[in-house]
Amino acid sequence: MISKILIANRGEIALRVLRACKELGIATVAVHSTADADAMHVRLADESVCIGPPPSRDSYLNIHQIVAACEITGADAVHPGYGFLSENAKFADILDAHGITFIGPTADHIRIMGDKITAKETAKSLGIPVVPGSAGEVKPENALQIAREIGFPVLIKATAGGGGRGMKVAKNEDELSEAVSTARSEALAAFGNDAVYMEKYLGKPRHIEIQVVGDGEGNAIHLGERDCSLQRRHQKVWEEANSPALNVEQRMKIGEICADAMRKLKYRGAGTIEFLYENGEFFFIEMNTRLQVEHPITEAITGIDLVHEQIRVASGAGLSVTQDEVVFSGHAIECRINAEDPRTFVPSPGTITHFHAPGGLGVRVDSGAYQGYKIPPYYDSLIGKLIVHGRTRVECMMRLRRVLDEFVIDGIKTTLPLFQDLINNQDIANGDYDIHWLEHYLAQPTTDAAE
Ligand code: ADP
Repeated sequence: MISKILIANRGEIALRVLRACKELGIATVAVHSTADADAMHVRLADESVCIGPPPSRDSYLNIHQIVAACEITGADAVHPGYGFLSENAKFADILDAHGITFIGPTADHIRIMGDKITAKETAKSLGIPVVPGSAGEVKPENALQIAREIGFPVLIKATAGGGGRGMKVAKNEDELSEAVSTARSEALAAFGNDAVYMEKYLGKPRHIEIQVVGDGEGNAIHLGERDCSLQRRHQKVWEEANSPALNVEQRMKIGEICADAMRKLKYRGAGTIEFLYENGEFFFIEMNTRLQVEHPITEAITGIDLVHEQIRVASGAGLSVTQDEVVFSGHAIECRINAEDPRTFVPSPGTITHFHAPGGLGVRVDSGAYQGYKIPPYYDSLIGKLIVHGRTRVECMMRLRRVLDEFVIDGIKTTLPLFQDLINNQDIANGDYDIHWLEHYLAQPTTDAAE
């Protein structure tokens, strides 16, 4: 059994993991950079260890310091949160070599899903629908033949890709060779690897992802989907569960395909299988082998604590529920609150002079922020998440409108005003949006998110 968990992360997710540990009666160790000495997760943890200076590579990404912190404090497990070392197979291997439990999947599964071509091949072999595309790498000499087989428009993507970089669309044969060569040089510059592959380009898809949890022994469940189509520069801004685009049959069908794939893979821990969804069809794009930022909306509609489940399966206790016992109830929306200008999205670090979180039925605020908290400029700008639950989507939206008016964060700029605009938008009210909707909306001169 696990008795002491070191939380190798910071910010709201470190606090969220800490809360789960406290509920389970497990001792906690916070690690922090010198810039985070006053952070809430450090204050609330049973023990804390400073692991280095502000830059992430010297602290939150410093494997040696984190392993040393485990040994000093006697932590027998590490929860990596999301980002930082959460999808680093080498980190999982090193912990294993030290007899420390990594709360997550096996290093092999992290590796498989970390490479885009292997991930897609694996997904396909497990029965998950994938975007039609090249079987492997695309070279300038075979690009035209492959593109003709797939059908235009096509998308050229970097094998080592991430963050939406190195992708190029070719609408027709004339645009193809330039798209391939630009994608290859951009991939080389960004990732040090010029390998690219090709997929059918989907014009107006939604981003729909399925939450799965497995015990590593061949038991796995799905917890439905999240619709994360509202994105800016491939960053999710607003997420909801369930998706306004799916009905119960579609949900259970794609969910069961994913759960079944995870049973075959003997997947351990929480994971998310991401799809583009268009005209009733799902197309796998990637699998994240970790907890995601938007996991609380799934918790809201299922009542299942995903971090409890992660800790259970990591300690060999198995899943707390079977698929039949999972009950979906109501609708949930998450707004990501960033310390950023709501119009330009330029980061706005600084001191929070006033902080008042909303409350009431169906309201959850996951944030490490407090009055007087100084947001350091070194890390990503997510300072909190507002999660609202209602019995129906309409009730959820009514509640969200009320809650956004109650939330006060002064001293810095935040993205709260953007959500106050979105909640009054007719397309949002109708659930009628795709992955390009938000970018178009923000490009309109009439958008007045800054008011
Ligand atoms: P990355 O790892 O670089 O983020 P993904 O494969 O996850 O790459 O794709 C990032 C985003 O690019 C998707 O969320 C979607 O917006 C867009 N995208 C990816 N594949 C396609 C496709 N075949 N057709 C249309 N858009 C796509």
